[in-house]
Amino acid sequence: MPPANRHEPRRAKSSTSDYSVTEFLAEFPDDAACLEHLWRTRYSPDGEHAHCPRCDAQKVFKRYETKQQRQSWTCTSCGHHVHPTAGTIFHRSSTSLRLWFHAMYLMTSTRCGISAKQLERELGVHYKTAWRMFNKIRNELMTDGEFPRQLRGEVEVDETSWGGRPRKPQTRSEGVKFRENKPTILGMIERGGRVRLRVIAGRRGEPLSGAVRANVNPEAILITDDWRPYRPLRPEYAGHRVINHSAGSYVEGDIHTNTIEGFFGNLKTGMRGTYKKVSRKWLQGYLNEYAWRHNNRFHGQRSMFHALVQEAAK
Ligand SMILES: [Zn+2]
Repeated sequence: MPPANRHEPRRAKSSTSDYSVTEFLAEFPDDAACLEHLWRTRYSPDGEHAHCPRCDAQKVFKRYETKQQRQSWTCTSCGHHVHPTAGTIFHRSSTSLRLWFHAMYLMTSTRCGISAKQLERELGVHYKTAWRMFNKIRNELMTDGEFPRQLRGEVEVDETSWGGRPRKPQTRSEGVKFRENKPTILGMIERGGRVRLRVIAGRRGEPLSGAVRANVNPEAILITDDWRPYRPLRPEYAGHRVINHSAGSYVEGDIHTNTIEGFFGNLKTGMRGTYKKVSRKWLQGYLNEYAWRHNNRFHGQRSMFHALVQEAAK
């Protein structure tokens, strides 16, 4: 067998990695490369021609050396400047584009995310900067529009509480009270498809049913446990299958909520491992991040990263 070429490391066929950090750094070595990427993505696919709003026509643009921190492209006919970061989360940020891109790379290339503490160490930025970057990416790039991409097909819906377990065994009513003081996460998942996660204000009434209505299409078939507050939704949906958890039943044929419960299990294990404590205020952002990765899981790592950059370039 010929010796392996150490300059061209090969991946095992089974490897799920298709975008190593070396490849990422080769594609985006510095701020200029990131800015060029935004320029092409947002304005100019060929890097030279773009629509000039002042000339109201397709014109040739040139990038001139300037003393500005971030360069702009200039219309060669009228001198109009276009700043590729205008209106994005990068605009007015004192953090370099290269660091923003690296943070997005790390968020899309790990299964359970990465903590701001680790980003601080890896990129050599202040903890507060790292935290702010993550927070913006989670809350501005990883959100999912409510309509029109509502969930369809068979949709399992379940709710869970976030943060700690009771220290001692509790009676049923103590258990209810304990859970009601914790943030409630509503999970809605298409079998074999997408997931939506929402922090809701309570586990009954409008907070619960309103979130289901906003995120699940009426043509879907709901699958829930026998928690009563789901009942009023029944006439609004194509179907509603109920698994009788309170009678100790967990699977009846294909009536079960194992998909969403499994998702909650992985979510909690992953979040506790990576982020330790997450307060109610920031919880939705972390949920966005987990849902985003799940919903983009069929793309390779490289396209996941580019999908996120694409979102930033909107
Ligand atoms: Zn012009």
